[in-house]
Amino acid sequence: MNAVRFVLCDLDGVVWLARRAIPGAADAVERLRSSGRRVLFVTNNSMSRLAEQERALAAIGIPAVGDVVTSAQAGASLVDAGQRVLVCGGDGVVEAVEARGASAVTTDGGFDAGLDTGFDAVIVGLHRHFDYDGLQAANAAIRSGACFIATNDDVTYPTPEGPIPGAGALVAAVRAVSETEPTIAGKPHRPMADLVADRCGPAYAPSAAIVVGDRGSTDGRFAAAIGCPFALVRSGVTPPGGPTDATVSPVVDVADLAAVADWLLDA
Ligand SMILES: [Mg+2]
Repeated sequence: MNAVRFVLCDLDGVVWLARRAIPGAADAVERLRSSGRRVLFVTNNSMSRLAEQERALAAIGIPAVGDVVTSAQAGASLVDAGQRVLVCGGDGVVEAVEARGASAVTTDGGFDAGLDTGFDAVIVGLHRHFDYDGLQAANAAIRSGACFIATNDDVTYPTPEGPIPGAGALVAAVRAVSETEPTIAGKPHRPMADLVADRCGPAYAPSAAIVVGDRGSTDGRFAAAIGCPFALVRSGVTPPGGPTDATVSPVVDVADLAAVADWLLDA
């Protein structure tokens, strides 16, 4: 594991739980960075703006400016400068689309699908104002030939009160009505793997990376898509002692990020 130079770290269930720091996580990130490793935070959260995610990390003692990679960015990586994009998603998607030099039109607030047409792409991500008109706007655009992109396909999102709808639930509605399959951008899919490689720069190789995550079906499969090892932590959706996803085989299976850092720095 001495060859690992890039630690691709999930956020929810690894660094924090509902933005409350997981004990030892900030210190673990600091120790990994001090060893010369690059730590990137790779998240399927597309809703929040980058600066907001960076601020939340800073608030728990993790400086992260330039080190957060989101499924909103992965989705926006599939559109080109100058394109017109219908955003059926949150502020993070609007921001990522505009950063690509494309123009973003949102489905919220009086959008008229009959009047506003001519989109190159539709990006669907988690947002809390999803409604019938927005669903029809996405449907009409896709049926008129816009490319259908999903930030991610996580159907649910864990909370202490039980699962709540994730982006995948909204994507499923758009898929059903438009009778079209989306290109899915976030973990564990290819656009996110390509974006991470790009962000890591010329020194990056899959053999120099490790994915740290709490969920086999996204983080474990993401590691498999990249072709790098997967470190499972049991500080999130996979509880201590609970069964693991049979389709993934973690190289290490430990309590939390602090234990991953111990293991990597000990190797
Ligand atoms: Mg997670």
